[in-house]
Amino acid sequence: MSENNPQDFESKDVIHQLQQVEWQKHIKYIADNSSFYQELLAQNKIDSKSLWVMESLPKIPFTTKADLEAKNEQFRCVDQKQIVEYVTTSGTLGEPITLALTKQDLERLAHNEAQSLSLCGITEDDTILITTTLDKRFMAGMAYYMGATKIGAAVIRSGIGDLHFQLDNIKRYQPTTLIAVPSFALKLGQFLQDQGIDPSQTGIKKIICIGEAIRSSGLEANTLHQKIQTTWQCPLFSTYASTEMATAFTECKYGQGGHLLPELMILEIVDEHGEKVADGELGEVVATPLGVEGMPLLRYKTGDMARLHTAPCACGRITPRLGPIEGRKGQLIKLKGTSIYPQQIESALHDANYQNPYVIEATTLSIGTDHLVISVTDDTNLEALSQILTEKLRVKPELYGADVSTILAKIRAHNSRKPVRFIDLRQG
Ligand SMILES: [Zn+2]
Repeated sequence: MSENNPQDFESKDVIHQLQQVEWQKHIKYIADNSSFYQELLAQNKIDSKSLWVMESLPKIPFTTKADLEAKNEQFRCVDQKQIVEYVTTSGTLGEPITLALTKQDLERLAHNEAQSLSLCGITEDDTILITTTLDKRFMAGMAYYMGATKIGAAVIRSGIGDLHFQLDNIKRYQPTTLIAVPSFALKLGQFLQDQGIDPSQTGIKKIICIGEAIRSSGLEANTLHQKIQTTWQCPLFSTYASTEMATAFTECKYGQGGHLLPELMILEIVDEHGEKVADGELGEVVATPLGVEGMPLLRYKTGDMARLHTAPCACGRITPRLGPIEGRKGQLIKLKGTSIYPQQIESALHDANYQNPYVIEATTLSIGTDHLVISVTDDTNLEALSQILTEKLRVKPELYGADVSTILAKIRAHNSRKPVRFIDLRQG
């Protein structure tokens, strides 16, 4: 059974009407139940009845991660007995933030992921090997699981890491689809080759990627994407979501950005002044997830920088598409007059074919400017790597060799589910 939304192929008016209905339910629910937003609207002298149409959204002040952290309990709209699941953000940029979900929120999450997986062409005929975390309060692994089973696909909850166990799953169950962090998909493919197995002959026909960009800002396949595709000889699908948004953006087979699920989210892309940017321009992703019951949000500033593409897609859907996350808002580094995001450095390291551990550290110099050091393993040809990075980044970074244990100790020293390869020690 395919779970595709018929309205995604209809006119912009049909989608707008659908969103308007969902928005009205959302704002009424929030005005009735959320003490955080009751207070926020009162402070800003906004009558919730004046927010009846979706176009009034920009009247509402933004909600930030700091709000969600400091006033977490005030976002809760339900009693403890209605809560069925606690999840947290990854904590990559500080303390993990808790979100409490109701039974209805879980159903919404399953619908969201069933839609997303359908966008990649997943059906009940598929068997999916999920190699992401399925525990540790992580939402994405659970969402994939629920969405896949809702479609009727078979799921192998393989979890993260353990290459031999992944191989065992591939041999036993012949999965058709792999869900993985892109760098892990590459690692697994190379491991299979080392075992004398051709990854393209395993039966895996699709790889759904989470957590790392596989396209450039112009939506072309980046080096990581190309390497995975060469190894596995199958198409890759990018997905983007976050715990706070509880909604995924997933690519169709044309790979031109993740499609918005209009019944589940109102999306804005804003500049540093909070104003909407032009289509295709880089800005911050601001999410208003619709239909959330436990801890609903309005205009949540994700801190993720991306571009929105609104031209109709070759697949026939007219829903807008979100390009790759090009950086985190607070992480922009100004180096000798050039602005770069750590993600660009990570991508440049991939381009340079560097596959060992590394850590990127930013500090503030006494004169107040940003300083950046990249540590790579001490067996690296620093001169050759520096040349490639300078070419890609258009600025020469400071590159040092360090022993592997020092690098690993730094990237694993944080209270985070995933290794933290960018350490920001800048002031202010
Ligand atoms: Zn499409």
